[in-house]
Amino acid sequence: MKVLVAGGAGFIGSHLCEKLLKNGCDVTIVDNLITGRKKNISGLTGIHFVEANINETQTFALPALSVKFDHIYNLASPASPVDFPKMPIFILETATHGHKNLLELARRCSARILFASSSEVYGDAEIHPQIESYFGNVNSFGVRSCYDEAKRVGETLSLGYKKEYGIAIRIARIFNTYGPRMRPSDGRIIPNFFSQALQGQALSIFGDGKQTRSFCYVSDLVDGLFLLMQSNVETPTNLGNPIERSVLEIAEQIKALTSSASLLEFLPLGENDPKQRRPDISKARELLKYDPRIDLETGLKNSLTYFSSEA
Ligand code: NAD
Repeated sequence: MKVLVAGGAGFIGSHLCEKLLKNGCDVTIVDNLITGRKKNISGLTGIHFVEANINETQTFALPALSVKFDHIYNLASPASPVDFPKMPIFILETATHGHKNLLELARRCSARILFASSSEVYGDAEIHPQIESYFGNVNSFGVRSCYDEAKRVGETLSLGYKKEYGIAIRIARIFNTYGPRMRPSDGRIIPNFFSQALQGQALSIFGDGKQTRSFCYVSDLVDGLFLLMQSNVETPTNLGNPIERSVLEIAEQIKALTSSASLLEFLPLGENDPKQRRPDISKARELLKYDPRIDLETGLKNSLTYFSSEA
């Protein structure tokens, strides 16, 4: 089985490539390393790596990408809120031009294509937990809109290719995921808390810290992506871990795990920052037999060595 992973040198992508290799796939990565790192994939033997931007059509004329792929995973996109104000146009282009280029490749190869969408399509959700049938509450004109709207368009483009050209599509709505290989400077909650706790700095809590998040360990998420690709589910599917924790609880847990004496620093809540986020994963449980197994305590312990080595 020949598989292309766009964004394969990133955090989730590199773990996915590892799983695909273990399953005997012939894996090619296309990644421009804008937020990914070569060292994420340095231990993956037998992988083919193409350093290129999926937004450029000439990328797809490269000989390494003229292979007849069976499956294409599109995980390419900056995903951290710290990147949103820095490169809004690039983020939008990646889910539109870039994803369209991959859909054209899927059409040429008669490949199945999975789009890594996001829980951000639900925006600051008014229903809880979030189920796939909910249309979302997204601000089209805010600091997060370049990412939220990009993911919504990426889903719509996939549907267009299915309707007009019969392309086999898969759409994963990924909820907060964490684990080794996240950039420590990534700006998301868990890498932030680890970096601050390990360096003896105050842990930044935005708002009162009572807002909740549910975090999925990366191996569980990757299992879900793999199951979704193998399935015949062509409609958007939530993937994540539904167990909810407050931001304060997570901060205390990481402080304890790192034996850190850091204080907590309370800062203003970000614009359009969701107050609650939890996936309803009934659909994935029923149709994919998806079952996240790693609890937060275990996942944080698994991540400690990595974040300590990066501090
Ligand atoms: P990441 O930044 O670690 O990985 C993204 C990878 O895509 C990087 O290696 C980057 O260099 C590459 N990339 C970005 N734009 C590109 C382009 N135009 N051409 C080629 N390569 C490009 O992020 P991640 O956390 O691993 O996220 C992977 C995917 O999952 C993203 O699409 C993200 O939106 C989605 N997602 C992640 C989370 C999460 O909690 N990590 C949650 C929801 C959705």
